Amino acid sequence: MLPGESPTESKGQPGLVSAALSGLCPRCGAKTLFEAPAQLADECGNCGLAIVSLVRGGRFVGVVTMLLALALILAALCVDEWLRPPLWASLLFWGPVTVGGVIFALRFYKTMWIYHQYEESQQQ
Ligand SMILES: [Zn+2]
Repeated sequence: MLPGESPTESKGQPGLVSAALSGLCPRCGAKTLFEAPAQLADECGNCGLAIVSLVRGGRFVGVVTMLLALALILAALCVDEWLRPPLWASLLFWGPVTVGGVIFALRFYKTMWIYHQYEESQQQ
């Protein structure tokens, strides 16, 4: 760790939502956190932060995805019961919503986790 890095720099940290949307590195703020829409990069291409070594709770990601998919499927079933839209309209609407929702939830969850782990690693 560089001695010049002061804790006051953390004041300029982006909010978690924008960090998740843009995939911002917790150390340098470059858009390097994700190499695919919901896939974390191994390390930051800008500052070399070892992102992969910060990930220790990966097993929970699967649970989050499943819960979210379940919630979306239940919501889809309720709307179907309620409105009885034609099947093509359901697919047209719920396909992108499900994919987008799962990807965003994963990004948000992973970003939250990485930022949390990063802050913990800074306190040691
Ligand atoms: Zn970085």
